[in-house]
Amino acid sequence: MSTSQHTPVVPLEAGAGPDNPPCPACGEPLFGWLAPQPGLAGAISRCESCGLGVVGGEASPEEALAELDRLRDGDCIRISNRASWAGSLGSAGWAGLTPGTRYLFTVEAVRRLIAHRDQVVAGCRWAPGASFANTWQTLLNSVTFGHNVALGALRGNAVAAPAKKGWQRKIDALASIVLAIPAAIIAAPIELIAGPTRRGAVLRIKPQLL
Ligand SMILES: [Zn+2]
Repeated sequence: MSTSQHTPVVPLEAGAGPDNPPCPACGEPLFGWLAPQPGLAGAISRCESCGLGVVGGEASPEEALAELDRLRDGDCIRISNRASWAGSLGSAGWAGLTPGTRYLFTVEAVRRLIAHRDQVVAGCRWAPGASFANTWQTLLNSVTFGHNVALGALRGNAVAAPAKKGWQRKIDALASIVLAIPAAIIAAPIELIAGPTRRGAVLRIKPQLL
């Protein structure tokens, strides 16, 4: 008899309670993940089943679907992938934590959510350029006071949460310039390996009606 047969199995439902509301995508309880981050509305919880991340307390399938609609890009939905290597490595420094974000998606969370609309995931493609930028910025976030400083400078400040003090912002600007190339040298192989295995930082998901 193997030892695994003696291991008690506790269903995720056992963790449900007022502090662990149901995941809007799959209904399993959400568990605490990160303390409140600059630019985000509250603490971040995550679903251990589908991987969805939820910022702040209130969450509903309708609201999560509305956020997915805002991520629409042509016939695809473009998500920063919480199940990416960048997301796992970066944690609170992950570049996908952009100010104002309420939901942090994974392919499985999107699959569960769009099932509410009788849709399925017809395809999922890695977005190489955006993924590289996301992983590159995640690496830079580990050495700066602010968050997404370099992408904020390149794309507009909507994605950035700059440091509070002037001297910190100056150091951040300098660090981002000095470390831009070393971070790129590390980010490129990470994404080249992660991309083909669905662990890329940014994915384009194509939904289709059943
Ligand atoms: Zn879930």
